[in-house]
Order: sequence, then C-alpha cells, then structure tokens
Amino acid sequence: MGKRNRRVSAQEGVTKFDLVHRPSAPFPRRQLRDLIAWRMILWRLGLIGQDPARYGGVGFGNVSQRLPARGRATRFAVSGTQTGALPVLAARHFAVVTACYPERNRVEAEGPIAPSSESLTHGMLYALDASIRFVFHVHAPDIWRQARALKLPRTAPHVAYGTPAMAAEMRRLLRSGQLRRNPILVMGGHEDGVIGFGRSADEAGAALLGALATALARLRVP
Ligand SMILES: [Zn+2]
Repeated sequence: MGKRNRRVSAQEGVTKFDLVHRPSAPFPRRQLRDLIAWRMILWRLGLIGQDPARYGGVGFGNVSQRLPARGRATRFAVSGTQTGALPVLAARHFAVVTACYPERNRVEAEGPIAPSSESLTHGMLYALDASIRFVFHVHAPDIWRQARALKLPRTAPHVAYGTPAMAAEMRRLLRSGQLRRNPILVMGGHEDGVIGFGRSADEAGAALLGALATALARLRVP
C-alpha cells in the first residue's frame, strides 16, 4: 500500500494542512463505542453537524480518542472529513492519526477515510497532556458568545486554530490550571468553536453539556 500525498482542502474555510494519508482497514468499532455514543449525542444537539444555514453549508465539529502510542508518536482515532451530516458514525468514518507536526502544519494518518481537517488541534492537546484521552470539538454559539460572561478559558482571538501559536495558547491555558477544574476551552479565533476534553468520554462530554446548560440558563427569554 503506497503512501499518497494529498493536499486536503479544509472544511470550514480554514487553514489547509499537509496530509499524508495511507488508506487502510477501519479501526475496530468496539474500541470506539464511547466515542461513537458521544458523537451521536453531540450531533443530536446540533453541536456537530452540517446545516445549509451555518458556515456556508460545510460540516462542523469532530471527535477523537487517544490510542495506545507506538513509539513516541501520539496516536488517536478522529472522525473523518465530510462526516458532519451523518447522525451515527461507523468504524469506517474514523481515521487514525499516526503523527502530528503543528509547526509544519502536517498530519500523517491511516484508515478508510481522511481525518478531520481540525486534527492538528486535537493532536496538540494530546501532546500537551498525557492524561487527556478524549477531545470533542463542537460548534456551540450559545457557549461561544457568552464565553467571557461564563469566564471560560479562551484562546486569543487573533490566534488561528491548528497553528503553532494555538499550541502555545493551549499550553498557556493548561498550565494556568483553569482547565483542571473544568476541561473546556473556547477558541477565540474560531467562530462558535469550543473544545471539551477529558480522561474519559463522559468527562469531555459533561464539560460541554455543563457549559451549555450554564449558557442557556443565562439567555434572556422575551
Ligand atoms: Zn470547528
């Protein structure tokens, strides 16, 4: 099976990244069950999806799960590109990222589908903290717009996602200790972008749902 270099045009009109994708068989579904279940919940809530009325109709949101490392490289399963419209993901909708190089904007992956264009952001979190096992990136306007009022940790608005500067921002937030109490961060420079993460899928999902509840509780109903 030969390597093929593909220049992937990113979803959401964001930064392009270099992807080396080696097509291979799907990762076993039984090891992704929690991830798939939470992906269903997030999709049902409209935090992941594809909607003609949002972001020019391109898919949004993606989920990942750390896999046992091979050597020094961080490995993780991540939802594939162009899967936002699907209510339920199967094993064939996940790629395995085998190496991530934020400073070179480069991702190496295998699996039956190309990884989400936001894989670098997931990879940065896994690289920064070995205890992180799940990363959920959603688009939650209710949380994003109230990030300041809710005092949620935020990456600086001028920092584009997936860049080395974003990795530095995430490192800053992780080291500040704010994320230990509540493992959620708002992407200041990525409209509606919010990331929940944790040692388990439940922890990552609960962080997002907790923030959503707090945001909705503050909405003024006419
Ligand atoms: Zn996004």
